[in-house]
Amino acid sequence: MAQLIDGKAIAAKVMAEVAEGSAALVSEFGEEARPNMTLIVVGSDPVSKRLVELKAKDCEKTGITPTVIALSESTSEEKLLRMIERLNADEDVKAILCQLPVPEHISTKKLLAAIAPDKDVDGFSARIDSDDYDIAACTPAAVMRMLKESGVEVAGKHCVVVGRSNIVGKPMAIQLLLNDATVTVCHSKTADLAEHTKRADVLIVAVGRPRFVTGDMVKEGAVVIDVGMNYIDGKPVGDVDFESVEPKAAMITPVPGGVGPMTRAGLLVNALKLAERKVK
Ligand code: NDP
Repeated sequence: MAQLIDGKAIAAKVMAEVAEGSAALVSEFGEEARPNMTLIVVGSDPVSKRLVELKAKDCEKTGITPTVIALSESTSEEKLLRMIERLNADEDVKAILCQLPVPEHISTKKLLAAIAPDKDVDGFSARIDSDDYDIAACTPAAVMRMLKESGVEVAGKHCVVVGRSNIVGKPMAIQLLLNDATVTVCHSKTADLAEHTKRADVLIVAVGRPRFVTGDMVKEGAVVIDVGMNYIDGKPVGDVDFESVEPKAAMITPVPGGVGPMTRAGLLVNALKLAERKVK
């Protein structure tokens, strides 16, 4: 039986660290130094609205002041970009997040590019050609922390990432490389995907297809991290077929309760770092 990597428990530990960090910042530099986060949600998608609510609650629990801005579905791209410009220029705003996805008439690329890198709490603007991963993309940073907390050393290991999105797959590969792993990145055009996944010591799956990776695609004793979050009949399901993969893996993350809560905790880590940068 594989050891479960408990994202909830690790996230609780990370949140306690952030709460301590926020309190220390306020006690050293005063109330003005308190971390804050402006969370923008556009439209009425219930999942996005719920996620923003949860993120705002996480902020409150860790001494970060949240401000939620809810905009209607019909908000124009121009209006949203102008609002972000104003928030970028506002000295009191330390961190900005815009919940994805946004309605189709708004370009996600333009939106993410509009958020100033020194306020980009999601870490999406962490540059691939830079070693400055201090404010790192939250999901890959969450995965790295989970591996570390579970005693998995990636240096010298063969890590296979399935998925190459700008917010998960690519920054994941970079963070693994920065930690001396040997990295293979697979995507929808990869031939013989299973040939690659079967060679992984650490397999990280971020594809967006329910139960996509099955037991026959995994090496005995591998560490398997399931980033996927899909919904079937309203229930969350990962990209890994837990039932067939778990018996072969040495360690595995569950869905729910794996990478998800850790990604949210990663946001708080970034919010604290952004606030610290303002005063230190
Ligand atoms: P994207 O849709 O942006 O990217 C999916 C990637 O999977 C693409 O690179 C795509 O390849 C690749 N892919 C698609 N089909 C195949 C295939 N048949 N074989 C191999 N590769 C394939 O998704 P994201 O990266 O944004 O998210 C991935 C998953 O992670 C989703 O389920 C999402 O909900 C979840 N997620 C979870 C988070 C959490 O906190 N737990 C946070 C962020 C995401 P190509 O580039 O060639 O199209």
